[in-house]
Amino acid sequence: MQSKESPMSEEQIRQAVEAAYQQGTQWLGQGNVANYIPALAKADPKQLGICVQTLSGHCYEVGDTRVPFTMQSVAKVLLLVFALKELGAERVFAKVGVEPTGDSFNSIVKLETKGHHPLNPFINAGAIATMNLVLEEGNAFSDFLVFLEELLGRSPIEMEERVYRSEKETGDLNRSLAYFMKSDGVLQGDVERTLDAYFRMCSILCDARDLAHFGLMLAQDGHDPRTGKLMLDPYDCSLVKTLMVTCGMYDSSGEFAIKVGMPAKSGVGGGIVALAQGKLGVGIFSPALDEKGNSLAGAKTLERLSQALDLHYFKGSH
Ligand code: GLN
Repeated sequence: MQSKESPMSEEQIRQAVEAAYQQGTQWLGQGNVANYIPALAKADPKQLGICVQTLSGHCYEVGDTRVPFTMQSVAKVLLLVFALKELGAERVFAKVGVEPTGDSFNSIVKLETKGHHPLNPFINAGAIATMNLVLEEGNAFSDFLVFLEELLGRSPIEMEERVYRSEKETGDLNRSLAYFMKSDGVLQGDVERTLDAYFRMCSILCDARDLAHFGLMLAQDGHDPRTGKLMLDPYDCSLVKTLMVTCGMYDSSGEFAIKVGMPAKSGVGGGIVALAQGKLGVGIFSPALDEKGNSLAGAKTLERLSQALDLHYFKGSH
């Protein structure tokens, strides 16, 4: 068991990342790539990559860590930190709640049965409402991209045009969520502009290294892993990490919390960003999903990593 007195050695981490990857590969061939966005259905389901970045500045990579993929719902975390930075927690959480839904990420049901406001910023309705707030309060979508360039430390941030167009053409459920919220007064102004920005956001390209970098920034309460500069407010980071625990893995967040015990956020592109507080950041990519829309091999890989390094938030350090 780890303790503060005996931090994980480089060799231990390297072996754990390798073992986690091997575990993940056993699940390749199960699950399905997202096909409700036609362009995503073309992804190769046999891909798997894991990148771990540590506080001491080491980076461990195995597998498809340099393959670009679309962020999809992982971008909801980045949108939330941007909204918190620009508008503050009070205004953001006047628009979206902080409660898990127990429903699928694109469900409309709670908008009708649980009041008008989306229950949290990590379901589609919540991210669309957050995007609407950000835009209607005067930020342009390009401001969000500039913010991402600074945060991820690279430029330009690119989008996958094919996936963007495919989702825009077929995104009737998201369009329904948006107009439903507009009719209830939750969304203001130009709904199509909000949806366009939301679809663009989902199609932003990243790789597992970007996600590990961002995970480590959250693990360090907002400090940039490369420069040490404070990029995000530590309180905002704690809010975001808490929501990742309760809502980050859709309607399997509870099971994931028990099995893995790391704040995490997944996307239907196959990405997962995760972290261990004060220790490390993880980026995973594997596009075949389980029935809840989480990367199947990706979640198994994380589970093994957590076990191997005792990363569950209620274990270790004793
Ligand atoms: N673009 C996807 C959607 O809106 C994002 C969902 C996800 O990654 N869970 O349905």
